[in-house]
Amino acid sequence: MNLPVTAILDDISLLDYPGRPAMVLFTGGCNLRCGYCHNASLLGSIPSSFLPEEDILKACKRFGDSWTDAAVITGGEPTLHGDSLLDLIDFLKDYGFSVKLDTNGTLPAVLRKAVPLVDYTAMDIKCPFEDYPEFTGCTDRNAVRESFRYLVREGYPHEFRTTILDFYHTDERLERLGEDIRGADRLFLQAFRPGTRLLDKSLRKAPPASSERMLTAKGILEKYVGKVIIRGG
Ligand code: SF4
Repeated sequence: MNLPVTAILDDISLLDYPGRPAMVLFTGGCNLRCGYCHNASLLGSIPSSFLPEEDILKACKRFGDSWTDAAVITGGEPTLHGDSLLDLIDFLKDYGFSVKLDTNGTLPAVLRKAVPLVDYTAMDIKCPFEDYPEFTGCTDRNAVRESFRYLVREGYPHEFRTTILDFYHTDERLERLGEDIRGADRLFLQAFRPGTRLLDKSLRKAPPASSERMLTAKGILEKYVGKVIIRGG
């Protein structure tokens, strides 16, 4: 079986699975180009080689022996791997892990197959749907909208999350984002953090999101979403 894993975090993560320590597996390749992306080395087309299944099994054993029974599949964009992603989910479930899927929601057909198999899905809502081409490089505005509606309609455990950049997430843009996701149960806001490996060089030394903008974003989005939580705040 060719499981689409290019790397596994060495340490247990206490941040990536809600309320549980977790093993984190990275799939390579992403179809978006978010300037603030910290995983630039995982972007581009789907890699031609992956970790051997034997290595993934060893990692499952190592984390399992450390009392970890949750796994996070993250990217790049995991849904790019289609049926191989489903194989990976089955593999981890068979081993006894609860599985969380991180996704950008741009491939709703794959999302619909994967979400019922996992225990939790976290989907990014990066900006108003109308602005996706300019902000992320995704030309299909309807794809993310379709994934959003699917998750809200079907009720599988999920969260939405937005990374806030002061200069970009203006009040006007946040109001439009809120209109787009009106009726969602829960939205987590994450603060933009600069870093030397960000995709957009001009953002590498930009200031992190300010607490004022995070609180303003929360206030605006609370008009549209059941609960808005500042992650880490
Ligand atoms: S969708 Fe995620 S992995 Fe892909 S470019 Fe955007 S932030 Fe990076």
